[in-house]
Amino acid sequence: STQEQPPQICVVGSGPAGFYTAQHLLKHHPQAHVDIYEKQLVPFGLVRFGVAPDHPEVKNVINTFTQTARSARCAFRGNVVVGRDVAVPELRAAYHAVVLSYGAEDHRALEIPGEELPGVFSARAFVGWYNGLPENRELAPDLSCDTAVILGQGNVALDVARILLTPPEHLEKTDITEAALGVLRQSRVKTVWIVGRRGPLQVAFTIKRSPARGRGSQNCCFEQPRRSQGQRTLPARHRPPAPGASAFSEAPSRCCHHQTGDGQQAFAWQSPGWRQVSCYSKIPAFSSLPTPARCCPRSPQQGVGEAARAVPTGDTEDLPCGLVLSSVGYKSRPIDPSVPFDPKLGVIPNMEGRVVDVPGLYCSGWVKRGPTGVIATTMTDSFLTGQMLLQDLKTGLLPPGPRPGYAAIEALLSSRGVRPVSFSDWEKLDAEEVSRGKGAGKPREKLLDPQEMLGLLGR
Ligand code: FAD
Repeated sequence: STQEQPPQICVVGSGPAGFYTAQHLLKHHPQAHVDIYEKQLVPFGLVRFGVAPDHPEVKNVINTFTQTARSARCAFRGNVVVGRDVAVPELRAAYHAVVLSYGAEDHRALEIPGEELPGVFSARAFVGWYNGLPENRELAPDLSCDTAVILGQGNVALDVARILLTPPEHLEKTDITEAALGVLRQSRVKTVWIVGRRGPLQVAFTIKRSPARGRGSQNCCFEQPRRSQGQRTLPARHRPPAPGASAFSEAPSRCCHHQTGDGQQAFAWQSPGWRQVSCYSKIPAFSSLPTPARCCPRSPQQGVGEAARAVPTGDTEDLPCGLVLSSVGYKSRPIDPSVPFDPKLGVIPNMEGRVVDVPGLYCSGWVKRGPTGVIATTMTDSFLTGQMLLQDLKTGLLPPGPRPGYAAIEALLSSRGVRPVSFSDWEKLDAEEVSRGKGAGKPREKLLDPQEMLGLLGR
């Protein structure tokens, strides 16, 4: 039975979900062997390619992941795209269990006209660009404009606003790519509008992410609403700041810190009175960038608190800008026709990490619960998935008998001309990045070109 055989387990994706699931399995089963497959040449998922460069402390989790990867019972198999180089049924045949932790690699489209125009990007691509994601290294956003608009008001929107507004000298000692830094040094963006559909109490970002918290935040301000004067009614019309006005520093746009009645903190991008800008899909937006994008003023709200929803009024308003970044969420892709997928929710249907109707198949992280939540949330849900898997192993629900594990997959990959990279390969690339960063006082200068990386590995 599997109890007598060292269980061979495969994890797909080396972001926080993959690593935390592996960590749990290795810790709680003394014989388990875990192979972590990753499509990139480098590990750590969004910790490397998502977390903002000016939040280096968040990346400390890499130390824990490195310990896991160095375990004799764990192996990193980078440069393998599951679903293309190897199919999920092939993995299921080779391993006792397969855990899908491949994150959310797409962005949600706004589905409004003009989204494909130059000057309109997903925040996901912009984040990938400044963080050195190989597929986004050619993005080259034109920052010669005065005003940028970010559509969406979650943490990613805030990260992007902060990066756009932080003086480049404050980013020079971070792991932001030199190429991005070069473009940001030339940037003429002074005003960033964060456009959201919902009211100030529903914004989805946390204070830590606000541009007003950044070191170079002279362009931003927090202000307490003057409660004694009351929150006045919304102004009849909303106007963008005069050309050259600094973002968030003067009316009508303010980042406002608001203490709610129940003691909770809330923040709002505020005009005098609680006022926001909204964008609706029926607006023919971005018709001829860099000429104006069209947005409509916030409409009356239905419902209260979390349930509040904005209702379009039909009024529209032009918001002149040269760059539009849509930041309305990430989205998982289906990985393989054999794996159930809920296209509406963008997740793999599962019960506490057990993929519905597919014994031996599990999921964790953003592909399990949707693209929300921080690394700590991902850790908790990955541990839970690991727990379910070990429970199934114990109760004999996983296939009995030995499984070949990587030996079988290695043969398949080799017959397909795929050459995986190991964790020690990553450690060589890591050392190279660290040494390239040293001269500039950066923690690392990321390698951007997979061909160059393979060359450095002697391939
Ligand atoms: P991911 O981190 O995306 O990992 C998935 C991995 O799977 C990736 O390495 C990917 O390359 C790989 N993969 C995908 N498809 C395949 C395939 N077909 N075959 C093989 N491998 C594949 N959280 C914080 O706590 N603090 C922050 O400051 C913070 N900042 C963030 C900033 C941004 C821009 C974003 C988007 C998220 C941020 N988060 C932050 C959230 C955090 O990054 C996520 O909670 C976490 O990364 C989700 O982990 P995951 O493993 O599910 O997905």
